[in-house]
Amino acid sequence: MTLKKYKERRVFQKTKEPKDERPETYQRIFVIQKHQASSLHYDFRISVAGVLKSWAVPKGPSLNPAIKRLAIMTEDHPLAYADFEGVIPEGEYGAGTVIVWDKGQFENLKEEKDLEKGIEDGHFTVALHGEKLKGGYALTRINKEKKQWLLVKMNDQYANRDLDILEEKSESVLSGKTLEKLKKSHPSGSD
Ligand code: MN
Repeated sequence: MTLKKYKERRVFQKTKEPKDERPETYQRIFVIQKHQASSLHYDFRISVAGVLKSWAVPKGPSLNPAIKRLAIMTEDHPLAYADFEGVIPEGEYGAGTVIVWDKGQFENLKEEKDLEKGIEDGHFTVALHGEKLKGGYALTRINKEKKQWLLVKMNDQYANRDLDILEEKSESVLSGKTLEKLKKSHPSGSD
């Protein structure tokens, strides 16, 4: 039911984005998709209660605990979306290019409180086990009406104040392609 908005916005004859959920193996996975739409952003998604809860992070995640990144909550996506990379055709919702920038398992750092409740209450922390992002991240809502949250690296052994991970590792963890390369390999946007 929470995928209603996702489905309404898409014409599945025109886009290769997934239509359906794919449960079980998608328990507790997170994905960060780098998405060149009308503006570049990173979509941070975590599987919660059978869907991917999603935030668009305009400046992307950071390894530096001193940096707070704005994250706008967007509509839930189906679990199968975690493997989507490709070109969303012109004129379609989110038109542009998507790569899977990072992906892996995650843990809820406050096991006594489930993530659905944490999201509802506007604060939760997760440990990411990605290829690029590791360790704790906190998400805290700052404006409910505008769906604005902050994504902040927690101070742990994986924190790094010097490394710009977005610059250093810009390629997909699925295909090894950058956004530009992927776009070039799909010149028509229809493949
Ligand atoms: Mn997006």
